Amino acid sequence: MAIRAAELIERKRNGEELSDGEISELILGYTRGDVPDYQMAAWCMAVYFKGLSGRETHALTDAMISSGETLDLGAALGRRVVDKHSTGGVGDKTSLAVGPIVAACGVPFGKMSGRGLGHTGGTLDKLESIPGYRAELTIDEFVAQVRDVGLAIIGQTGDLVPADKKLYALRDVTATVDIIPLIASSIMSKKIAGGADAIVLDVKVGDGAFMKTLDEARELARTMVELGRLAGREVVCELTDMDQPLGRAVGNALEITEALDTLEGSGPPDLTELVLGASAHLLALSDLGVDVDEGRRLAEEAVASGAARELYDRWVRAQDGDPAREALPRAPVSRPVPAHASGFVQAIATTDVGLAALHLGAGRTRKEDAIDHAVGVVCVAKRGDRVEAGQPLADVHARDEESAARCVAEIEACYRIGDGEPERKPIVLDVLS
Ligand code: URA
Repeated sequence: MAIRAAELIERKRNGEELSDGEISELILGYTRGDVPDYQMAAWCMAVYFKGLSGRETHALTDAMISSGETLDLGAALGRRVVDKHSTGGVGDKTSLAVGPIVAACGVPFGKMSGRGLGHTGGTLDKLESIPGYRAELTIDEFVAQVRDVGLAIIGQTGDLVPADKKLYALRDVTATVDIIPLIASSIMSKKIAGGADAIVLDVKVGDGAFMKTLDEARELARTMVELGRLAGREVVCELTDMDQPLGRAVGNALEITEALDTLEGSGPPDLTELVLGASAHLLALSDLGVDVDEGRRLAEEAVASGAARELYDRWVRAQDGDPAREALPRAPVSRPVPAHASGFVQAIATTDVGLAALHLGAGRTRKEDAIDHAVGVVCVAKRGDRVEAGQPLADVHARDEESAARCVAEIEACYRIGDGEPERKPIVLDVLS
């Protein structure tokens, strides 16, 4: 039967509500290749202007899940399985520290992660800066490693939610990424298909995030909590600050180093707080039978005792990587970014910091671009810090002098320095469940 894509686009454009069957027809038709990219893009743009009802968003999520296979990690392990996901930001290496901490506390953690696109980085790219790290395990290898080591992080398999893989790539080039029901169904379809019983979501808010305001972030969070509830999954959503890079490091190997610092108890304060808080929520949602306060205590203990760092080593070795810090690639050129004035750092243009790292080669503008794992930026000064003129705001790690000089100018322009100490903001702005 021919798919009535043009009619469905027109009805959505006119603000009508589509039935579950119509949404499923469109999504499965698109996944099979029966609905072309241009019609799907037009439908996404109609959704941008007219939105989706709660029922339509649920139907879309279900259709995306049914486009591929699903995994029941809990049944395979005989345990309640927890998972975490971030909506994406600049310098977000949280999962790299959360995974070993949670696993060191005895809770299995198996995660599928994506690559970075645009100004935000992807966990998978960061992991691939570890020499030898194998991100493509078979599902059987993945399950066995989560069971034996407690932790595995791999790339999203093509068999799970293929509709999202195709749709996300299309949205990325048709200005249809930042649409709440499409983000919610994209994230939740992958989490539900991946088999997690409970999920901690980190919704980033601010200049460097898809959600620019707390109100928008709350709406996205509420939509995802509801999708989780309808699928019988428990969801806790943290709304976290992305008005400056998370931690200090932006760039793949540099971020692995910072995740290691955090696992060893010497990470930057904002990242440490976010990592311990997310770990506490995950432990509280697990089958350990602890509350968030006890989860926090266990997470802190796993760091202090060295158990989390040991688990990192075992995990990385299990995926054929070299866990030593010294094994990580280093950029040949390092240049400071001097402060242009004395005063307090008022703001850091976070998206632009992400873009400056991307211009160095740390990220990609097209899916097929290769990335340079060694390059990036370390933001020495953060919002609220007092700086003196000439003092380094950041360090640029580059492949050559020319790209370093360009990046120094870009990063300098990201910092706004002024008189008066700006108001301090906590890293976690709100928690919804
Ligand atoms: N992350 C996702 O996985 N999907 C989106 O649509 C946005 C962020």
